[in-house]
Amino acid sequence: MGLCGSSPAATKKGLESKKVVMIIGGGYAGIKLAKTLDTKVNVVLIEKKDHFFHSIGSLRGAVQPDLAPKQIIPYSKLLTHGTFLQATVVEVQEQQVVLADGRKFPFDACVCATGWTGGTAFWSTNSPASGNERLAQLKEVHDRVKAATSVLIIGGGAVGIELAGELKDVMSDVKITLISSGEKLMSAPGVKAKFQEKLAAQLSKRGVELVFGERVESGVDLSNAGMHPASTVTTASGKTFSGDVVFVCTGPKTALPEKHPFALSDQGQILVEKTLRCTGTAPQFFALGDCAQTGDVKNAYHGALQATALAKNIVTFCEKGPTATLAPYANTPPAFIVPIGRKDGAGQLPFGVVGSMFTSAVKGKDLFTEQFWKDMGFKSSKDSQAHTASALSSDDTGRVEKRMSAIMNLDEETFKKEYGSLEA
Ligand SMILES: Cc1cc2nc3c(=O)[nH]c(=O)nc-3n(C[C@H](O)[C@H](O)[C@H](O)COP(=O)(O)OP(=O)(O)OC[C@H]3O[C@@H](n4cnc5c(N)ncnc54)[C@H](O)[C@@H]3O)c2cc1C
Repeated sequence: MGLCGSSPAATKKGLESKKVVMIIGGGYAGIKLAKTLDTKVNVVLIEKKDHFFHSIGSLRGAVQPDLAPKQIIPYSKLLTHGTFLQATVVEVQEQQVVLADGRKFPFDACVCATGWTGGTAFWSTNSPASGNERLAQLKEVHDRVKAATSVLIIGGGAVGIELAGELKDVMSDVKITLISSGEKLMSAPGVKAKFQEKLAAQLSKRGVELVFGERVESGVDLSNAGMHPASTVTTASGKTFSGDVVFVCTGPKTALPEKHPFALSDQGQILVEKTLRCTGTAPQFFALGDCAQTGDVKNAYHGALQATALAKNIVTFCEKGPTATLAPYANTPPAFIVPIGRKDGAGQLPFGVVGSMFTSAVKGKDLFTEQFWKDMGFKSSKDSQAHTASALSSDDTGRVEKRMSAIMNLDEETFKKEYGSLEA
C-alpha cells in the first residue's frame, strides 16, 4: 500500500484547513474528479490497484504484448496537493471509510466512483491489484490466443466486437465465431440500425462468423467474464459451438464496497439525484460513473462529464454546507465509437452514424492511450519504461475530456469539413 501526493503539499497550499473529500475509486470518473478538485479541497483518492488501468486499450494490450505496459499508468503524478492511497474500502460509514486492513479515514464529503467489474476479465478495471499481475494476465491471454486456431466470443456488445477486431488485426487466419443473443450487434435501446449494420458488415468482411439470436446456456461459466479454456458451448436452441479459447464478453456488473449506506436500483446501481448526490442518504454522499444510475450511458466519456459537474457541486457543498443548493447535472445523448482493429469500425454520434475513417482517426489508432498518459501527469506513454517524466503544466489537464467532447459534440457540417463523407 502506498501514499502519493500527501499532506506536506497540502499544507504548503493551505489545503489542510479545507474539507476532506474522499473519492473511492480511481477509474475514469474518479481521476477526473480528483484532478479537478485537487487545488480546491483536501482530496483523498482511495484506489485498490497500484495502477490506473486504461481498459479502453486493454484488448489491444492483450493481443499485442508490446503495448501491454502502456495500459498501466502509475498514479504518482495525478495529484499535486491531494493524497492518493492504495487501499480497498470495505465499508462506508456516516463519516468515515473503513479499509480492508482495518484503518479508518474520516471525511467531510464522500464520493463513490467504484465503477464496474467484469469479474476476472482481463479488461476489467477492478482486478488485479498490481501492475505486474496485470502484465502477466495480459501475457497469458496473448500466449493462449497465439496457440489457438479457433476463438469463440460470447457477447455482441462493444467488448466482443472490439476483441474480434483486435484479434483479426494480428491473426488474420484464426477462425473467430461471435455469438450474440440479440438479433443485431450492440443491441440496446437508442442504438441505430445503420451503426449496427456497419459493424456487422466490417466483421463479416474480415472473416468473423456472426451468429445472432442464440443464447449460450451451458459449456462455460457465464458468470465469469473473461478468458476460458477450450470448450464446446450449447445454446438455448440446442446448437453447439467450439473454440480453442472462449471469451465471455457479457454485461459488466456494478462494483461497490462490501458495506455502504447507498440505495440501489434494480440493476444494483447507486441511486442518485440530478445533482449526483446519493438518494436517501445523509447529504455528504455523492456517486458518479458506472456505479451510479445517472441516466447517462455507461462509459468513460460520460463519467468525465459527470465529474466536471460534480466538482462544482462538491465545492459548493464544502463552502456552504449540507443545505446548499446544488446544480442539476444535464444528461447528454448516448454516443459510441467502436473500432474494429486499427483501421475499421463505426461510431454513433448525436448527428449521425460514421464509418471507419473517423473511427480510426479519433480512436482506433491508439485508443486514447497517449492522451490518458498525459492526463495522468506524464509526458507520454514512453514513461511506461522510463519513469523520468516531469509533471505537465495545469494547462494540460483535462485535455482528454476536451478532445472527447469536441468529437462527441461535432455537428454534421464541421464533421464533413474535417473528415469528409459520413460513410467513409
Ligand atoms: C474494452 C473496453 C473499451 C472501452 N472503450 C470505451 C471508450 O472508447 N470510450 C468510453 O467512454 N468508454 C469506454 N469503455 C467503458 C469504460 O471503460 C467504463 O465506462 C469506465 O471504466 C467507467 O469508469 P468509472 O470511473 O465509472 O469506473 P471504473 O473505470 O470501473 O473505475 C472504478 C475504480 O474503482 C476502483 N474500486 C472499486 N471498488 C473499490 C473499493 N472498494 N476500494 C477502492 N477502490 C475501488 C477500481 O479498482 C477501479 O479502478 C470501454 C470499456 C472496455 C472494457
